[in-house]
Amino acid sequence: MAVRNIVKDGDEVLRKICRPVEKFDDKLSLLIDDMFETMYKANGVGLAAPQIGLLKRIAVIDVGEGPHEFVNPRIIDASGEQTDTEGCLSCPGVWGTVSRPNFVTVEAYDRNGDRFILSASELFARAICHELDHLDGK
Ligand code: ZN
Repeated sequence: MAVRNIVKDGDEVLRKICRPVEKFDDKLSLLIDDMFETMYKANGVGLAAPQIGLLKRIAVIDVGEGPHEFVNPRIIDASGEQTDTEGCLSCPGVWGTVSRPNFVTVEAYDRNGDRFILSASELFARAICHELDHLDGK
């Protein structure tokens, strides 16, 4: 495993739309391991592939409930609203107030290509919305 460099705001890779993952192989598994290691090292609760310079639809999240990986994620349901301050590993020291849904249901794949559906609320829902935005260049 290896810690990757985190791309900072201003890099155009953060403004691009990421491509879906098509191959679920050992390379993907290693990449996801690196993403977790990079996120934990930076004390983050989430990291998306473009933040390490890769235009792939992959995000990892751990808001204190254990590690979760999302490959080709898609929000299939969202409800409620929460407003709180939010930071980003690509914008160190910058915090903004953002409104997000309070509940989301996401459909995604794990590293083995197995599809799952996960429902989240509060901080976990916020982290999912934040990381999925990265996959669309936001
Ligand atoms: Zn971010």
